[in-house]
Amino acid sequence: MVDSSTPQVRLPATAHEPTQGLPAIGQGTWYMGEGLAPRRDEVRALQHGLELGLTLIDTAEMYADGGAEEVVGEALADRRDQAFLVSKVYPWNAGRDSAIAACERSLERLGTDHLDLYLLHWPGSVPLEETLEAFERLREQGKIRRFGVSNFDVDELETLAALPGGDACAVNQVLYHLGSRGIEHSLRPLMQRLGMPLMAYCPLAQAGKLRQDLFGHPVVREVADGLGITPAQLLLAWAIRPVNGRRDTIAIPKAVRLQHVEQNAAALGVELGDDALARLDEAFPAPNMKVPLDIV
Ligand code: NDP
Repeated sequence: MVDSSTPQVRLPATAHEPTQGLPAIGQGTWYMGEGLAPRRDEVRALQHGLELGLTLIDTAEMYADGGAEEVVGEALADRRDQAFLVSKVYPWNAGRDSAIAACERSLERLGTDHLDLYLLHWPGSVPLEETLEAFERLREQGKIRRFGVSNFDVDELETLAALPGGDACAVNQVLYHLGSRGIEHSLRPLMQRLGMPLMAYCPLAQAGKLRQDLFGHPVVREVADGLGITPAQLLLAWAIRPVNGRRDTIAIPKAVRLQHVEQNAAALGVELGDDALARLDEAFPAPNMKVPLDIV
């Protein structure tokens, strides 16, 4: 369960919202609603995560073509107030009017009257000014509390921050895990300067060879074994570690298996010492030059 010692990330206050603390680990939903797992298992996993304090739920109109939002809606049907709900709009739906309509469709599928955070899923061809205008209208209408972006690299974030209203952008959600540290060179420092928290997606490197290599890496195994935790828990604890004395990262692993949900919640209580961090740095160094933003 989450208590006052649970690591929290603070969203800055805006002109309309007070500052808000969120547990540093939330729940992703990509591939939910696609029939890969029984729907009741997906619903139960999200509910169990909520009970264990993983209160931020991240979804998108893209996931299962709205199907993931429906799973989330079912999970939250009698407990909407317990969740901090995040969804995302496709770039081609992010126009002055189309974003309003897309948000309304998401709300309908989610069975709620508001999102806590609405993200532009990735940069597109609709002028950002239009998207900002739509986000502001949605906020005025009470349909969203805050807005943010996803998959924005340095140039895009600088452009956004310079636009009127752009400084209210609450987060940038990007790919970040031990095996992909490119953002540490310049994107993350920029976000720290802007006071903008990071939402780390694919914090467990999804599935496949990269993840196998990470989980099976001798240093990962040794450090995890030494702490009595799993490689996945080590990756989560690493992703949410304070940087420059500040805790500014919310990791959003997706988990359907209840054991995974429980391990992810327990990772909130894992602290990595200097020795563990130094060993991981040596095995997985951050790049010393700007690299293109990693995406999936
Ligand atoms: P993750 O890195 O979260 O990996 C998910 C996989 O990890 C699943 O197979 C899951 O298994 C497994 N898993 C979960 N917990 C554990 C654990 N404790 N031990 C071992 N395995 C575990 O990948 P995602 O792509 O799902 O990324 C997370 C979320 O980020 C997405 O669901 C989505 O919400 C968001 N996202 C956003 C993107 C964007 O462009 N903005 C792009 C990609 C993701 P199982 O489900 O069987 O429990």
